[in-house]
Amino acid sequence: MAKVKYRFNAHTLSYDKIVISFKTKIKRFIALSSTTLLTSVLIAVGILQFYESPRMRRLNKENERLLAQYQLLYKDLNKVEKVLSEIEQRDNNLYRVIFESDPIPSTIRKAGFGGVNRYSQLESFDNSDLVIKTAEKLDVLMKQAYVQVKSYEEVMHMALNKEKLNSCMPAIMPISNKTLKSTASGWGYRFHPIYKINQFHYGMDFTAKIGTNIYATGDGVVKDIQSIGGGYGKWVLIDHGFGYETLYAHMSEFKVKAGDHVKRGSIIGLVGSTGTSTGPHVHYEVHKNGTPVNPQYYYFKDLNAQEYEKMVTISSNIGQTFD
Ligand SMILES: [Zn+2]
Repeated sequence: MAKVKYRFNAHTLSYDKIVISFKTKIKRFIALSSTTLLTSVLIAVGILQFYESPRMRRLNKENERLLAQYQLLYKDLNKVEKVLSEIEQRDNNLYRVIFESDPIPSTIRKAGFGGVNRYSQLESFDNSDLVIKTAEKLDVLMKQAYVQVKSYEEVMHMALNKEKLNSCMPAIMPISNKTLKSTASGWGYRFHPIYKINQFHYGMDFTAKIGTNIYATGDGVVKDIQSIGGGYGKWVLIDHGFGYETLYAHMSEFKVKAGDHVKRGSIIGLVGSTGTSTGPHVHYEVHKNGTPVNPQYYYFKDLNAQEYEKMVTISSNIGQTFD
């Protein structure tokens, strides 16, 4: 029961009962409660400055551990970056060079991700710097690894193709010519024996007895066989793929037919003197992407460096073709 309070009245010389309105009571209650609450909060905050709750302590410890792990992760990513960059160097300077392919520029290898800020959700934390640079590094590394995988796929494809190119490319002489004595006229302007004018000779002539074997100089498919009165006489055209074709002219006899698959060294015909020819020989042409090229660069499986030099000298000195 609430205490009744009185106030002395000097005029009446008596005690008047103090009556407190409900509103005042509410006001006093609110004022008292607020002061108490504020004081409690201040005390609690003060205590927390010096004292951690077990849960806070656990979380803080966990945070420290995570931060340490993040720092370790960042260091590890640096190591991964170093290893990846060595792999890239090797890829650019060795594998891609072997297969005559351009190196991949580092601007493509190390490209980040442009456009929107991918890391905005990682901002405004205590350790945002570390977290963002780790995320960035990881992104770039993933991109680098992806480019590297693509490059290896390409190199692998080139390696498989290279093996095929090796067996298809014209790489021997069209007749057996170990002593090089069969080497006659080479590529370039030569005196034409029949037309009696200087004319560009788009191939190389090899003299040999009629009936001597003529060989396919690389794997391929017989694309065309023709037998005409003038010009090349009896000739064979082989498609080797990769843009290479070879032509063998003035044959006496064919040993293949159009559409036949041939291997390097297969006999495709015999030496003759058909067409516009002054004596038994094979006129040999190498075409790259539809244009005749100097055949002397395509004997690398037959000739060593000295033999090659000797052959070039002989074929350059002979001023007249057999056509
Ligand atoms: Zn010729």
